[in-house]
Amino acid sequence: MLVLVANLGSTSFKYRLFRMDESGGEVIAKGGYERVTDHAVVIEDALATLQRDGIIASPDEIDAVGFKTVLGKDLSGCVIADQKTIDALDGFTAVAPAHNPPYAAGIRQFEKALPKARLVALFETAFYQWTSPAYYNYAIPQSWRDIGIRRYGFHGASHKFIAERSADLCGREDVAEIARRLYLDGPQAVSGKPFRVISCHLGGSSSVTGIRDGVAIGSSMGFSPQSGLPQNNRVGDLDSAAIPFAMRTLGISLDEAERQLTKESGLLGLSGVSNDARDIEAAAVQGNAAAQLSIDANVHSIRHWIGAFLVDLGGLDALVFTAGIGENGAGSRAAVCKNLEAFGIHLDPVKNAACRATEAVISTDDSPVKIIVIPANEELVLAREVYRKLS
Ligand code: AMP
Repeated sequence: MLVLVANLGSTSFKYRLFRMDESGGEVIAKGGYERVTDHAVVIEDALATLQRDGIIASPDEIDAVGFKTVLGKDLSGCVIADQKTIDALDGFTAVAPAHNPPYAAGIRQFEKALPKARLVALFETAFYQWTSPAYYNYAIPQSWRDIGIRRYGFHGASHKFIAERSADLCGREDVAEIARRLYLDGPQAVSGKPFRVISCHLGGSSSVTGIRDGVAIGSSMGFSPQSGLPQNNRVGDLDSAAIPFAMRTLGISLDEAERQLTKESGLLGLSGVSNDARDIEAAAVQGNAAAQLSIDANVHSIRHWIGAFLVDLGGLDALVFTAGIGENGAGSRAAVCKNLEAFGIHLDPVKNAACRATEAVISTDDSPVKIIVIPANEELVLAREVYRKLS
C-alpha cells in the first residue's frame, strides 16, 4: 500500500511517501515546500515530481493520504477524512489557528488531486478518547463545557507509538498488540499484571502522558497545545486569573495577550535567549541565570506531571523519553530522573550520557522501572495507523 503522509503548515507543505505492508513500512520519497501561498499548486507539483522521478507511474498508484490533524470539534480518533472532518476542524479553528485551517484546506485539495485515494485523518487527541471524566472535565460552568472546553491531550500519535514500543521492549507483547490495535478494537482487558508507562515527549512542543495497558489515562496538555509544560515559545499552564490581570495592568488587548502567550512565552519568555533548548543550554553553561531558570522550570514541570501520573497509575514499569530534547538531551534526562530512586527509577549515568538519538535502555540493570529512550518518527507512526485503518 502506498501511503502519502501530508504535513501541512500555514505556509509549508512537507510529504513522505511510504510503502507499507504487514511487516512495516519504508519511506520511498520525501520532499517539501516553504513559503507556500497556494497549497493546491505545491500539491500538484509534488505529485508531478514523484511521477517525473519515476517513483510512481501515475498519482492513481497512491492508495491513501494521511493527515496528522490536531483538534476537531466533537470528533477524534483515526477517521476517514471527509466533510465531517473538515467541519470538525473548522469548528475549532479559534483554538488551533495555525494548524486547523491548512489541514481543512489540504483535505479538500487532496480530494481533488487524488480522487481515487482514501484520505485518513489521525487526530492528535485520538489517544485520549478513553480518559476518565474525572480527568478531562475542568471545573467550569456547564455552558463552557457545552461548547467543548475540556482536557483533550495532544501528541497522541507520538505517545501511542511509545505505548506500543515500550511494551515490546519490556517483553509485554500482549500489551503491545492491544496498543497497536487500539483504534480498531478500543481498550482491552489485560490478563496478569498491569503495564504502566509515563511517556515524556520533549521537543519544540512537549507533553507528558500517562499510559496504562496501552491506553492513555491523561496528558499534561489540556484544552489546547498551549497548556501543560512550558513550550518553546508558548506559555504552558497558567492561572486563568493572570490573563485579565495582565490585560488591565499592562493595558494590552486580548489579541496582544494571546500573541505574547503564544509567541513570547515558554522557554523563550523565561530565558530571554532563544526558543531552542541547545541555545538555552549553551547560555546556561556560560552562566546566564535566566537561561538556567528556564531549564530548571521546565524540569520542574516535567517532574510535576511525572508525579501526577505516577500516583494515578499506582506505580510505574517504564519511563520513556522521546522527541528532540528527550532523545538528545542527556542533561535534561538526568535532571528529570534525579532523586527518584525511592520510586524505583534508577538512571545509569554512563548509559544516559552515551545515548543520543537512538533507542536504548538507560536505567541500571537492577532498576525496578526501565528508563528508555525511543526515537520519535511521527510520519511513520501516521503511515502505520493509515495502513491499519485501511487493511
Ligand atoms: P523536536 O520538536 O522534536 O524536533 O525537538 C526540537 C528541540 O530538540 C529543540 O529545542 C532542540 O534544541 C532540541 N534538541 C535537538 N538536539 C538536541 C541536543 N543535542 N541536545 C539538547 N536538545 C536538543
